[in-house]
Amino acid sequence: MPNKKSGYWKNTMIEVEIDKSSGFCFGVVTAIESAERELKNTDTLYCLGDIVHNSLEVERLEASGLRTIGHKEFERLKGKKVLLRAHGEPPSTYEIARRNNIMIVDATCPVVLQLQRKIHKCYEATRGDNTQVVIYGKKGHAEVNGLVGQTEGTAIVIEKIQDLEKLDFSRNICLFSQTTKSLDGFREVVAEIQRRIADNVTFEYFDTICRQVANRLPNIQAFASKHDRIYFVAGKKSSNGKMLLEECRKANPNTLFISEAKEITEPLPPGVNSVGVCGATSTPKWLMEEVAVRIRELNAGR
Ligand code: SF4
Repeated sequence: MPNKKSGYWKNTMIEVEIDKSSGFCFGVVTAIESAERELKNTDTLYCLGDIVHNSLEVERLEASGLRTIGHKEFERLKGKKVLLRAHGEPPSTYEIARRNNIMIVDATCPVVLQLQRKIHKCYEATRGDNTQVVIYGKKGHAEVNGLVGQTEGTAIVIEKIQDLEKLDFSRNICLFSQTTKSLDGFREVVAEIQRRIADNVTFEYFDTICRQVANRLPNIQAFASKHDRIYFVAGKKSSNGKMLLEECRKANPNTLFISEAKEITEPLPPGVNSVGVCGATSTPKWLMEEVAVRIRELNAGR
């Protein structure tokens, strides 16, 4: 039987362990709790974008009355209640809500909110001196859209080193990072800008990476390397899921990506006796537990 406290399963031969550090970060937990609280008192709560990048968790909340909408539908709504998820939104979203008499339930993560304010302050302070506000992040990602919105759309988004060609190294640069980017990637971008920036201009940078994600890297590597096989559980749209999966694979090439338990259809091959189940900050604990149960069922009697 599973030992609930340790997340550890053991039968005669197969050991299945759930990584205790995987699962929702506090920003996502808070957003889901806000949605659940609101749904107790209302039949329909709109959510602007997926509340979490996990379709099964979205479906669970939608069954209680959550309705996920995109920005186009949001613009047409009038007088409804809309939850803003942990990723945050640009100022234009709040402006539309004000115009359309929409009541906002703001579940923007406090870490993202603080970053938005920091970028806005930097933009306001430097707009007269030709400074380039730069964001290391994924173009089009909801959090990045919210950050770019703090600069009236003028911030330059850098996804990778090659994108640095977009910058003018003879002008001041102020660099921030999307909260879920990798620390190594950020350091690489900083080093390259330092190498290329002209002597007579300033380069300021702020490590704004959320440690809720960054601190998971060393842990997930250690976890992955102690098992024969890893099942990494995450939604296909989760960007921190992609990053953590990569780290898992580096530590243990026998890492399989799945989004739900039923994707496991075969018993474990001979020689695989210890299995780890882990996931992203958007992976619900109940889903990892379902995966562990599935592995155990398929290998009963081994
Ligand atoms: S990863 Fe960090 S910044 Fe992003 S929602 Fe979670 S706690 Fe907030």
